[in-house]
Amino acid sequence: TKNTGRNGHHFFQKSMNANAHNQLQLLNDLRAAIDHKELRLHYQPKFVAPHGPVCGFEALLRWERHGVTLTPDVFLPLAEKTGLIIPIGEWVLNEACRQLHQWHLEGHPDWTVAVNISALQFEQPNLLEKVMEIIEYHQIPPAMITLEVTETTAMRDPENSVNILERLTQYGVKASIDDFGTGYSSLLYLKRLPASELKIDGAFINELIAGSEDASIVQAIIALGKTLKLNIVAEGVETAQQQNFLTEMGCNTLQGYLLGRPMTPAQIAAKPDSEWQAHPAN
Ligand code: C2E
Ligand code: CA
Ligand code: CA
Ligand code: CA
Repeated sequence: TKNTGRNGHHFFQKSMNANAHNQLQLLNDLRAAIDHKELRLHYQPKFVAPHGPVCGFEALLRWERHGVTLTPDVFLPLAEKTGLIIPIGEWVLNEACRQLHQWHLEGHPDWTVAVNISALQFEQPNLLEKVMEIIEYHQIPPAMITLEVTETTAMRDPENSVNILERLTQYGVKASIDDFGTGYSSLLYLKRLPASELKIDGAFINELIAGSEDASIVQAIIALGKTLKLNIVAEGVETAQQQNFLTEMGCNTLQGYLLGRPMTPAQIAAKPDSEWQAHPAN
């Protein structure tokens, strides 16, 4: 009837407003999050395949909002859309470098850290200057920092990406092509990108079993990466079968819940050093 229609419309508008209101509230809170010291970095270990030792950590952003820990999927799209990702990304790089310097002083001089760089951040003309400034401030060897750029970001304007990554890697930081397999790489440009690492997207690892379609894709990615002399990382490794299978296929580095979840620096410090050494096969 007419009434239902009107009510339905009214309800729709109300929920739209509520949603817009929530997003606005989220944005306002996010603007203040840096100043209010609500951002945190968790660190997920990356291990030499198959059983370690640890070869570095990936910094993953968290937001402590009203006592709730939010993951990036909740707020990063908004940060990217509004440009807030620029100051946030700068905070992330600075905090990761500060933490790495502390780890080096605390007896882990060989640990490295990887930082995710958003598309907007990657395209800032002063990215290299910012990176240099932060790394020099914390007195870290640039080679101990990896910048993870997704395949999709890198292939948006491949010619420009080659340029940006050449300047960054000439300075000395490492580059990793993240979420590989989900974008559309031009092999011509992939060959020219001065990256040292390729990260196979977790989507291919999830249901990885011998003989599956995903297994053939992963095999092909590993072969491609080897040809280009890249270190091959698999993310999202959750089972021992995946661990063994990826190792057999020639994957160099493993990351995932099976080997280590993202952890706070306090949780990392609480683990005995033996945790980071190579483990015997089980
Ligand atoms: P990503 O770079 O692909 O990071 C891997 C994501 O998979 C992380 O989610 C990690 O917690 C999760 N993960 C790790 N191991 C496993 C596993 O075994 N199984 C499953 N199911 N998931 C696993 P998280 O921390 O929620 O981050 C999501 C995405 O947000 C990241 O994906 C990255 O694209 C972005 N991100 C995180 N931190 C930052 C940051 O500081 N800056 C920017 N620009 N992006 C960030
Ligand atoms: Ca990443
Ligand atoms: Ca990834
Ligand atoms: Ca991913």
